[in-house]
Amino acid sequence: MQYDVIVIGSGPGGYVAAIRCAQLGLKTAVIEKYKTLGGTCLNVGCIPSKALLDSSEHYHNAAKHFSAHGINLSNLQVDMKQMIARKDDVIGQNVAGIEFLFKKNKIDSLNGVGSFVDKNTIKITKEGGETTQITSKNIIIATGSKPTALPFLPVDKKRIITSTEALTLTEVPNHLIIIGGGVIGLELGSVYARLGSKVSVVEYEKSIIPTMDGALGKELQRVLKKTLGMEFYMGHKVTGATAKGKKVTVTAENPKGESVKWEGDHCIVAVGRTAYTEGLGLENIGITLEERGKKVPVNEHLETPIQGVYAIGDAIKGAMLAHKAEDEGVFVAERIAGQKPHIDYNLIPGVVYTWPEVASVGKTEEQLKAEGLKYKTGAFPFKASGRAKASGDTDGFVKVLASADTDEVLGVHMIGPRAADMIAEATIAMEYRASAEDIARICHAHPTYTEAFREAALAATANRAIHM
Ligand code: FAD
Ligand code: NAD
Repeated sequence: MQYDVIVIGSGPGGYVAAIRCAQLGLKTAVIEKYKTLGGTCLNVGCIPSKALLDSSEHYHNAAKHFSAHGINLSNLQVDMKQMIARKDDVIGQNVAGIEFLFKKNKIDSLNGVGSFVDKNTIKITKEGGETTQITSKNIIIATGSKPTALPFLPVDKKRIITSTEALTLTEVPNHLIIIGGGVIGLELGSVYARLGSKVSVVEYEKSIIPTMDGALGKELQRVLKKTLGMEFYMGHKVTGATAKGKKVTVTAENPKGESVKWEGDHCIVAVGRTAYTEGLGLENIGITLEERGKKVPVNEHLETPIQGVYAIGDAIKGAMLAHKAEDEGVFVAERIAGQKPHIDYNLIPGVVYTWPEVASVGKTEEQLKAEGLKYKTGAFPFKASGRAKASGDTDGFVKVLASADTDEVLGVHMIGPRAADMIAEATIAMEYRASAEDIARICHAHPTYTEAFREAALAATANRAIHM
């Protein structure tokens, strides 16, 4: 078969690229090695983790907060089997959605491992070993990523696990140890802490979510400790983990250089993800991976050093986020079709789906300092928001960073109720290069959490927040 575009991998990068290519009139095929479409995001990432976060949040609220609202429940129990079954059903619905979209857009979906024979030919090896070859003018690598392994700490997938296994546990662990205080560690840690596990997070850096604005990690750590009893061991260098029977022991070196250990039922290794290119045959077309991060090298048009071969998503540099992969999928499809698309990598929002949620867009305060840019800050706490008081979600704040010279908003960082959805307003504002005063002059519905963003903008523009 001869195609205009072959996409290898059906995650959010690959399936979105394929749909956009088809919309642009290009004959498109997608090769996926797993039985279901949707990649990490739909099968073992964004969607299942959010399904469990939502279920565990319902339980936690029922157990801890309903009585304050005058709702009394007794004999509350977690049915882990049902919770996991519901999560699987949510995955199924989303995967079926991609199958539908592929049919609707006349995209050929081919199952098997895709590997380069030459720059225009891909061999597909099916599960039984049977092979076929297809050719195309353009090929998009969208093969995603896998959990990063620590060389001295082998994952046995039973007691020492990654996020993938943590999404299918059949029992709530008594003690869950998490290596890595990043996004996965805190989201999955929240799930099990809400369901009753003691959760210990062991983090190498001084702060959790260390790549986000420093104020966010500080507040999140305080709140997770207060509301879920999560324990944090910062500045600890993990040295090993051993599983014996139903227990696991994790050892680390604390900041004083002393050896410490924890015993738990499971240990989740969540120290990042690594680009996945195994079996892709990049060597057959002369592509060498970047030394740092083992990423597929691309130029500003997301084209590899081989003309007509593009790469997107977790397989290349930049944030490992589904929406970044999706935007790159659209970008490459439109480049292939001769258009001139654009992505502003500074305006890709980042979200942590804990409660309170954490969300950011633009520059952090640390980045502005490092770049020597003059800026002003405005912050507004949710404890001063009428909406937050009504719902009982008074932890957190919104922080707006604006240029000291022009008042242009340079970064927005928030931790609070529904921050994941609220960050969209900040992203749009920054896309249109709004000033803090622009935001402060826009009417926001009352009572909503979004008023906190307006108040923070007011505080940044002239230190004149109304409710503080
Ligand atoms: P992937 O989704 O990894 O898809 C790559 C696909 O390529 C896979 O299906 C793989 O089987 C296939 N493939 C690989 N090699 C071959 C081959 N040779 N032949 C055929 N097929 C191949 N991001 C967010 O933005 N928000 C979130 O809330 C979020 N939550 C997450 C939660 C967890 C637990 C995890 C692990 C990740 C989460 N992420 C989240 C990250 C997000 O899942 C990734 O950034 C995103 O899936 C990357 O998309 P992709 O298309 O580049 O690759
Ligand atoms: P991460 O990069 O977010 O966090 C890894 C953490 O582990 C860091 O804080 C790092 O300092 C720490 N660490 C590294 N080595 C360590 C060691 N030896 N001992 C102790 N700590 C160590 O990575 P992640 O949480 O594994 O997530 C992987 C990717 O998946 C991320 O890039 C993220 O963008 C994506 N993801 C996104 C979401 C979301 O958008 N809500 C959710 C889950 C995952």
